[in-house]
Amino acid sequence: MEIIHSPSQMTAWANQALGAGKTIALTPTMGAFHEGHLSLMRMARHQADLTVTSIFVNPIQFGPEEDFDQYPKSLAKDAAMAEKEGVEILFAPTVADMYPEGFQTLITVKGITDRLCGLSRPGHFDGVTTVVAKLFNIVKPTVAIFGRKDFQQLAILRKMVCDLNWDIEIIGHPIVREEDGLAMSSRNTYLSVTERQAALTLVKSIKHVRQRFREGETNAEQLRCEAAKILSDNDKVTIDYLSLVDQRTLNDQTVINHDSVFLVAAKVGTTRLIDNTVLFDEN
Ligand code: AMP
Repeated sequence: MEIIHSPSQMTAWANQALGAGKTIALTPTMGAFHEGHLSLMRMARHQADLTVTSIFVNPIQFGPEEDFDQYPKSLAKDAAMAEKEGVEILFAPTVADMYPEGFQTLITVKGITDRLCGLSRPGHFDGVTTVVAKLFNIVKPTVAIFGRKDFQQLAILRKMVCDLNWDIEIIGHPIVREEDGLAMSSRNTYLSVTERQAALTLVKSIKHVRQRFREGETNAEQLRCEAAKILSDNDKVTIDYLSLVDQRTLNDQTVINHDSVFLVAAKVGTTRLIDNTVLFDEN
C-alpha cells in the first residue's frame, strides 16, 4: 500500500489507473479506524479493481463548539489496518492541501440538509458535500462507499451525485455494530464506562421501534414518544432528535411503512451519537 499526501499526486495515480482501464473504489473516512471502516474497505475491494481510502479530518464540517481539535488521530495504526485489508492507496492530505489560502467554494445540497443533523449542526453538510466533491475530483472513483450509519449524509451525497451528473456509483454499507449492538463510531472512545452503558439506550430505542412496527404500530408520534421514554430514562442521555421519515425524501411521516427509517441523535455526556434503522431489513 502506498500513502499519498498530495492531491496532485493522487490525481496522477488515478489518471494512470483509469488510463490502464482500471476501476477505482473510494472509501472516504476521517480515520481512527474501527471495524465499520474496515468493512467498507472490504466491500470496496469487491466493487472495483483498485481501492483508495482517504483519511481527512475535515475542519469545515465541524462547528466551532465541536470536537475537531479532539478528534482521534492515528495515521500509522490506520495505515497498518488499511494495508491488511488490501487497500492500494491511503490518501491523507493536509488541511492546507485541501483548503489552500483563498479557497472560496462551498457545495450546498438544499432541502434534505435542513433537518435532522442539519438543524443541530448548521453548515455541517455543506462541509461534507464540499470535501466529498473535492475527493471525487481528486481520486476519480468509479464507485464510492459510505456507511448507512450516517444515513442523512448518504442521502445527501446521493442527491449531490445525481444533481451534478457525476458518473459515480454510490453504495450504502450496512451499520456495523459492537457485540452489544452499539453502532461503531470513532467517537465511542470519548465515552466513560457509565456513558458507554448509557449509549445502549439508543440501540434499545431502535430495537423497540422495530419490534412495535413488527407488531403493527404505525403511528409515528406514538413510536417517537415510546422511544423518547427509553432514552430519557437515563440521565446521561440528552435527546437531539427522534424521527421517523421516508428513507428517500427524509420527510417526516405521521404514519410509517416499510420504507420508513427511524433515526436517533443524542448526547451521551458530551458525546453526540447517532444511529438509525430502516424498518424493512435487519441492520
Ligand atoms: P467517519 O470516519 O466517521 O467519517 O466515517 C467514514 C465512513 O465510515 C462513513 O461513510 C461512515 O458512514 C462509515 N461508518 C462509520 N461508522 C460506521 C459503522 N459503524 N458502520 C458502517 N459504516 C460506518
